Amino acid sequence: MPDILTQDIQFLPGVGPSRKKILSQELGISTYGDLLQYYPYKYVDRSRLYAISELTGDMPYVQVRGRILSYETFEMGPRKERVVAHFSDGTSVMDLTWFNGGKYAKKAYRPGTMYIVFGKPTVFNGRINVVHPDIDQADTLELSAMGLQPYYSTTEKMKKAGLTSRAIERLTKSLVERMKEPLAETLTDEMVARLHMMGRDAALRTIHYPKDARELERARARLKFEELFYVQLGIVRYASDQRRKYRGYVFPRVGECFNTFYSHYLPFPLTEAQKRVIREIRRDVGSGRQMNRLLQGDVGSGKTLVALMSMLLAVDNGYQACIMAPTEILAEQHLATIRSFLGDMPLRVELLTGMVKGRQRRDVLGALAEGRIDILVGTHAIIEDSVHFARLGFVVVDEQHRFGVAQRAKLWGKSANPPHILVMTATPIPRTLAMTLYGDLDVSVIDELPPGRKPVLTQHVYDTRLTALYDSIRRQIRLGRQAYIVFPLIEESEKSDLRNLEEGFEVLSQAFPEFRLSKVHGRMKPAEKDAEMQRFVNGETQILVATTVIEVGVNVPNASVMVILDAQRFGLSQLHQLRGRVGRGADQSYCILVTPNKLSDDTRKRIDIMCDTTDGFRIAEADLKLRGPGDLEGTQQSGMAFDLKIADIARDGQLVQMARDEARRIIDDDPECGKERYALLWSRLRELRRNEINWGAIS
Ligand code: ADP
Ligand code: MG
Repeated sequence: MPDILTQDIQFLPGVGPSRKKILSQELGISTYGDLLQYYPYKYVDRSRLYAISELTGDMPYVQVRGRILSYETFEMGPRKERVVAHFSDGTSVMDLTWFNGGKYAKKAYRPGTMYIVFGKPTVFNGRINVVHPDIDQADTLELSAMGLQPYYSTTEKMKKAGLTSRAIERLTKSLVERMKEPLAETLTDEMVARLHMMGRDAALRTIHYPKDARELERARARLKFEELFYVQLGIVRYASDQRRKYRGYVFPRVGECFNTFYSHYLPFPLTEAQKRVIREIRRDVGSGRQMNRLLQGDVGSGKTLVALMSMLLAVDNGYQACIMAPTEILAEQHLATIRSFLGDMPLRVELLTGMVKGRQRRDVLGALAEGRIDILVGTHAIIEDSVHFARLGFVVVDEQHRFGVAQRAKLWGKSANPPHILVMTATPIPRTLAMTLYGDLDVSVIDELPPGRKPVLTQHVYDTRLTALYDSIRRQIRLGRQAYIVFPLIEESEKSDLRNLEEGFEVLSQAFPEFRLSKVHGRMKPAEKDAEMQRFVNGETQILVATTVIEVGVNVPNASVMVILDAQRFGLSQLHQLRGRVGRGADQSYCILVTPNKLSDDTRKRIDIMCDTTDGFRIAEADLKLRGPGDLEGTQQSGMAFDLKIADIARDGQLVQMARDEARRIIDDDPECGKERYALLWSRLRELRRNEINWGAIS
């Protein structure tokens, strides 16, 4: 018998050829199965009625029964009006408001008729108000029998053809009744039992007609899990195939360098998070497979030290290591940091950047090829073809978003087997998103700052109060500190942004005649930029006026003020990165977000979050919720996993983790994908892949 779900939707009673066309154009529904997976976007608890007198502005969706007393219409500019219905249930009066469609509402809903009104109550002018309510005539609804009523998204075109939410509800109901046989399971029975999942058949029926909230939750969890599981199974399998193609160097021992450094040179105890990550790396490099690990840690969480200790492991096992930074300045900072950490340990650490030239460069290249350099610190210059290592075993890539996948791949050609790769980033990505985005990378997280850090105090200031702001900057500088002042940069109009910066620089120079100012922007030649940065790093200048070029990694512990002008033009993660430039020394640091008075709701939320927390992961989660995963860096390229019907990577983190764990377990047990007990899963995965997902796009 053919699967009922593959049947053509036009044969479902109530559909027919013309509605089929609309359903397929508007929602991509062309089979019974498509309709069954067109899930409600909300449910109304039809068993509970509220009295208007008990409503408050912070209740979620509610339902009340009553009558419209009268309508009022307010002009809101040319051809725009707001229509308000005064609605009473005898306990009190509330308002129903339409900003559009009011004309229609006035015709459709008559005063005096008993209606059931559904919506989200808010308070406006001291009265309870529901904007764009759902309204039904009371006698058409049989409340007690209904439980949770499903609501389906519809489009204008659908509504014109009579395909309202209510009509879809009737269609799904008749579909569910036609499904006489239980639907086939898509997870193994063992998984369903062990994970206490609702069965697929029950879940697909329940999701449309749940009896109560508990049942709905179980159905949802099952369907979300299934969706996430197949995404993860695809990713994990891809990663495992890649791994089996390449062997990794084995670092079996923890030797003298690592131990000596750990017991005699480490200037402070490691944080628990640093220890955990080092353990994770040790396990990887001892395993015989090539490590590809993403290390996420908030700015200032001490990633450099983790990188250094990992590189010592490589040296202990007879290999060379290198660390790549995105800019000359950062490379030089790393060199200085690493050399001072290592003190007089007998290790050779050298620098290779575009600035290292002539004889010096020849020396470095020679020593590197002969294996006399243990750790090489540098920029992109490291991956040029002319650079040869004797035995490169471990590579650290700092601030990953400046290094493309192609550059990462180039590293693989630098030694017989691909070296272990540790990619470090301070741009926090929620872990569950990272699992999906960086499919082939394992993720480690440093979720703890070294002790004794004073969190940066963040304030929001309107741009009408600049004089007061300048005064407080002045006070900080008089205490011996330094300040950053950042101008926004929008790529499309780089020229005018530059003009902004130039003019702004003039204004600031006049506002602070007693101090020396530096200016840095993306249009400057690298050497010029470095020289100007260096002046600030050395303390020759007190204020650094810049575009976002300072975003990545710069470390000036004496800088205690970060002023971000037109902060509304920055995204959350950018603001967080910028703020991370201060708070690196012992002094209390400040971040000032300057905006105009008028702000959109979203902007206000962003600013509020920044003032509220310095936790990069909370900020990243908030960012994800505000923008949706589709907008985050990297998701476009990966082009997958965001076409989810029911799961939400931002909100369903736990289920993502669970799906990942299950997928891992199965691949570990059946790396060849040939075991009978998983046959169901492999064939389902093939079926899904055929339909939608481009796995080749995963990097
Ligand atoms: P990031 O993760 O932003 O690269 P860094 O590696 O630059 O952070 O570390 C920030 C600062 O914290 C450095 O000055 C570093 O020496 C210091 N640091 C790192 N680990 C610890 C620790 N366990 N205890 C105290 N200070 C630490
Ligand atoms: Mg760093």
